[in-house]
Amino acid sequence: MSPWRVDSFSLTPMATSKPRPIIDTTADPGHLPVATLGGVGPALAETFARLGLHRVQDLWFHLPLRYEDRTRITPLRDLRPGMRAQVVATVEAVEKGFRYRPQLKVAIGDGAMETLLLRFFHFNRAQAEQLRVGVRLLCYGEVRQGNSSLEMVHPQYQRLAENADIALDERLSPVYPTTEGLGQKRLAGVIDKALQLLPQDAQLELIPPSLCAEHGLTSLREALLYVHRPPADARLDQLMLGRHPAQQRLAFEELLTQHMSLKRLRAAVRERRAPKLNGKGALRKRWLDALPFRLTAAQQRVIKEVSADIAQPHPMLRLVQGDVGSGKTAVACAAALAAVESGYQVALMAPTELLAEQHLRNFRHWLEPLNISVEWLAGKQQGKARQQAMRRVAEGASIVIGTHALMQEGVEFARLGLVIVDEQHRFGVQQRLALRDKGLEGELVPHQLVLTATPIPRTLAMSAYADLDISAIDELPPGRTPVQTIAISNARRIEVIERIHAACVEGRQVYWVCTLIEESEQLRAQAAEAAHAELTHALVDCRVGLIHGRMKPKEKQAVMDTFKSGELAVLVATTVIEVGVDVPNASLMVIENSERLGLSQLHQLRGRVGRGAIASNCVLLYQPPLGQLAQERLQVMRETNDGFRIAEKDLELRGPGEVLGTRQTGQLSFRMADLTRDAHLLPAVQRVGEQMLAEYPEQAGRLIERWIGGAARYANA
Ligand code: ADP
Ligand code: MG
Repeated sequence: MSPWRVDSFSLTPMATSKPRPIIDTTADPGHLPVATLGGVGPALAETFARLGLHRVQDLWFHLPLRYEDRTRITPLRDLRPGMRAQVVATVEAVEKGFRYRPQLKVAIGDGAMETLLLRFFHFNRAQAEQLRVGVRLLCYGEVRQGNSSLEMVHPQYQRLAENADIALDERLSPVYPTTEGLGQKRLAGVIDKALQLLPQDAQLELIPPSLCAEHGLTSLREALLYVHRPPADARLDQLMLGRHPAQQRLAFEELLTQHMSLKRLRAAVRERRAPKLNGKGALRKRWLDALPFRLTAAQQRVIKEVSADIAQPHPMLRLVQGDVGSGKTAVACAAALAAVESGYQVALMAPTELLAEQHLRNFRHWLEPLNISVEWLAGKQQGKARQQAMRRVAEGASIVIGTHALMQEGVEFARLGLVIVDEQHRFGVQQRLALRDKGLEGELVPHQLVLTATPIPRTLAMSAYADLDISAIDELPPGRTPVQTIAISNARRIEVIERIHAACVEGRQVYWVCTLIEESEQLRAQAAEAAHAELTHALVDCRVGLIHGRMKPKEKQAVMDTFKSGELAVLVATTVIEVGVDVPNASLMVIENSERLGLSQLHQLRGRVGRGAIASNCVLLYQPPLGQLAQERLQVMRETNDGFRIAEKDLELRGPGEVLGTRQTGQLSFRMADLTRDAHLLPAVQRVGEQMLAEYPEQAGRLIERWIGGAARYANA
């Protein structure tokens, strides 16, 4: 018996006046183009294509985002904020306001002394006229707490004729992802037609029956029918959370698909040949001898792991995770030296120019005494300098450092043996692949080392990073003191500035970080300029510097240098300093509007202090009132300096797409699965995945094709 009911809806085709198209259902109906469905003309098919819906099976797997319950009417007195509900009530009062922007307020009541306010900010004259006192309305919308009563903003509504019967839905209505020009009703209608072609499980199911049985996987057909057409008595709360067994069944399959696709990607890369970077280690020894510190045991262990990988004739794909300040750069350098000693080139790529420049300085400082040349290639570099740098790279310059400009077309390497990507979470999976392609031209593929300060929680490591091996630098260099963190309301800004003054007098150095979520670098720079002016004025006897992303690389460097030398007491900065900036004497950081930032960003920023032996502090200035999420974030920051705990919490609060910075790439936008919610499925996903790849490769391929479709080409990269 399946755990949910499928008997409450009908599978017979709806009666339509048009004859149904004749379809050869002996072939796999899932592969028919959507245009074979009745009522789908060329224009609609094109709209579907924009949603990635080309074949009938794409419609089967186009899953609802949420559901609306129009199977019942909720009395006004039962409404609560946060609910989505359908109500019937009569207009009691109408008010048109134009004070700040046009607004139409409509008070409706159902005679039980309760009023609900409908608010419209966009409306046309016809609408305004239609919503007159005495008119009876059927509304559906989300309830929220207004100033004086409960409200619905822009509800869906429909006028009811007096005494007319209300036609309630028989099933919950799915709400699908859609695009402009395609309404829910129309989309749902076509999906319904597609579902009529859904074959029996024997034909539909791609996971072998033995594995289904072993892991308790129930019928795929029933799961699909249930999520598209949940009965009126389905548990809406469970469905909305994605925890219904039918949804979990689909989430399992989706996670399985993604896991197998990444594994295939990895296997495909492993099949290729890579240069053996197995020098004797003479260069590395000379470098180590000159280093002013001893590597930590964790650094040594990770270097060993990397060295063993790159000595193999197949490409390494390894992620090194190490908290902020754990010394990832030294690990990168050790790997780079192995490549150079074996006669190969190294590309080191960082997400921001500032960070890339810092690597450039570090590497030059370390390697020029060893007569190893380090080249610079970044986006802003132009004309002759760029031409010359590119020529030297093509002629075989040993180490090339830069931003993602390194991936751009036209950059040719002579013998690229190792690619190092720093602060991975900033790069999407696709960028990772683009760089990998750099080596594909020739016969050998470069090894790839990815560095990240964001520890990848285990669940993500097993799924989103299934194409990589993972090493952890789980130890900080000795002598670091944990950063003390406090949160202070912006109302007490003056006190904070006084505190900065006291710190400067003691010879400490301070970062003041301006955060603005605005996309524009210009606005961000303006905010920083304003804070700079304020602090310069308030701190008469301290030198205050300014750095932001709109400055030229040379200017930025000059400012960083004066700060590093101690001439500047305070550095006002935008989040350009988020990653990698290293000034050990800076021991106080103030982050303005810290409530706007995500946890991992706050952690990255805070990692700029606490780099030396001096006790460090971080002040999280916030603008009250704080929302629930912001409160939780600031609380976590006060409680811990442990990047791993912070990452797990971040995942919990924000979801994996954001944590990985890959939301836009689409690679991780699941239709059903949610890595946080469904983490418990992953061990079984992994087991089934391994078995399918080994024993049922053909089905595995079809499954990937079904769920990922066009994106699956990455599986062949
Ligand atoms: P991250 O892992 O954040 O990239 P870095 O590589 O920038 O860290 O290292 C942070 C600081 O610690 C740098 O100043 C670096 O020189 C120093 N460092 C790295 N390894 C050690 C070590 N084993 N002992 C002492 N200092 C170290
Ligand atoms: Mg770093």
